[in-house]
Formats: sequence, C-alpha cells, structure tokens
Amino acid sequence: MRHPLVMGNWKLNGSKTVVKELIAGLRNELSSVDGCGVAIAPPVMYLDQAKHALSGSQIVLGAQNVDVNLSGAFTGEVSADMLKDVGAQYIIIGHSERRTYHKESDELIAKKFALLKAAGLIPVLCIGETEAENEAGKTEEVCARQIDAVLKTQGAEAFNGVVIAYEPVWAIGTGKSATPAQAQAVHKFIRDHIAKENHAVAAQVILQYGGSVNDKNAAELFAQPDIDGALVGGASLKADAFAAIVKAA
Ligand code: PEP
Repeated sequence: MRHPLVMGNWKLNGSKTVVKELIAGLRNELSSVDGCGVAIAPPVMYLDQAKHALSGSQIVLGAQNVDVNLSGAFTGEVSADMLKDVGAQYIIIGHSERRTYHKESDELIAKKFALLKAAGLIPVLCIGETEAENEAGKTEEVCARQIDAVLKTQGAEAFNGVVIAYEPVWAIGTGKSATPAQAQAVHKFIRDHIAKENHAVAAQVILQYGGSVNDKNAAELFAQPDIDGALVGGASLKADAFAAIVKAA
C-alpha cells in the first residue's frame, strides 16, 4: 500500500538562519506525523546543516537536483554520491525550472533518474505541461513523453519505489492550482500509462501533485484517489503552512 509524501522544495531561498528557524518550526509543528512521509529539499549549500538540524526527527532530507556525471571536471556540479554522503534521500529531477532555464532534456533527466537509482537514492521525477500545451490539449501527450523517456529505456520496473510529481507548469508559483478533478484526471492517466507495462509497479508509485498547493486547497487535492501528497514550493517556506499541508495528507 503506498503512503503519501509531502516534500518541500525551497528552491533558491534560505540562509543559515532560515534553515535553523524553519527546521525548528517544522520539528515543533510536526512532532508526531503518522501515515505521511515528509521531506524537505533546501539549497545544496545547506544540506549538511539541515541534516544535522533534522537529526532524530521524522522529516527526511531531499535535494533539488543532481549532476548527470559521477565525478571529475564538472565545475559547479554536485554528484549523487555527494548527496548521499550528506544524507539526502529524495532527489528532485526534471523540475520545470531546470527544464526551462537550464534546457534539461527528457533524455538527460532519464540519465539522472538511472544514476540516482544506481546510487540508492529516490528520484522525484517532475513532469507536466506548459500553459500553451495545456490549452492545445496536449497534457497527456507531454506527460507520456516525459515518462516514456524513462519507461521505454529503463522499463516499468525502474519506477519501483520512486516518486513522480505531476506539476503543471502553469500552476507553479502562480497561485492558480489545478482543480482536484483536473489533477486527478492527469494522475489517473499517468498511473494507467505505467500500468499498461506493469500493474503492480503502477499501483505502488507515489504520484505527487505540485503547483500552488497551500493549506486551503491541500485536503481536497489529497482526497483524490491517485494523488499521493504534494511537492510544495512557496508554502514550504512557512512552517505552519507546510505543516498544515502535511496534516491534510
Ligand atoms: C514547485 O516549484 O515544485 C512548486 C510546486 O511550487 P509552488 O508550490 O510554489 O507552486
């Protein structure tokens, strides 16, 4: 039986003080969480500090990206082994901001997916359509293509134990969340798409929704049968709002 996972993506926000205070706030608000995984992905600079601050809590450390290379002359990059070394477990890949600003392709993201699995880390594979693609009726086509980059090269079994975050690009950071019915329809499509290859794998894969989730809309989104928690951006920077989303899951 799959369990929900709520993960906070702090993006390019924070400082040593923010890490200290936000994690203290989260520990206070989430001292006993049952039946829902909780993770946070601070900027890579603060992972080690965050890991220490999370010590003894149920909140798990995540990261926002990984390089496709394992080591060597790749200035400015961070490897899967480094993330593992500092205690990160859930690693976001394919976020729309990386696809857009860093021109990351489906193929590159699929390589990152494979190397994270090989390193024993858990990919959180972000997929989702832009507003123009949505308006052109291409949501399913785009999501299928982004999943197929992994599915058709690594097989359905590659999705065992991983997380997929459906994040419509038009809903990220805009305050305009998908409706629960819209999100559920796409989540069902994603699960069915994987089920065509392997039913058991599709049934266990955690399918998060992401895009302007907040303490007001979370419960209705999480009530949908194929929505297993959320990837949360803006609202993850406030301990009380993030904790309310966790509690809704
Ligand atoms: C995100 O960036 O993954 C995200 C979902 O952001 P927000 O919650 O701010 O829309």
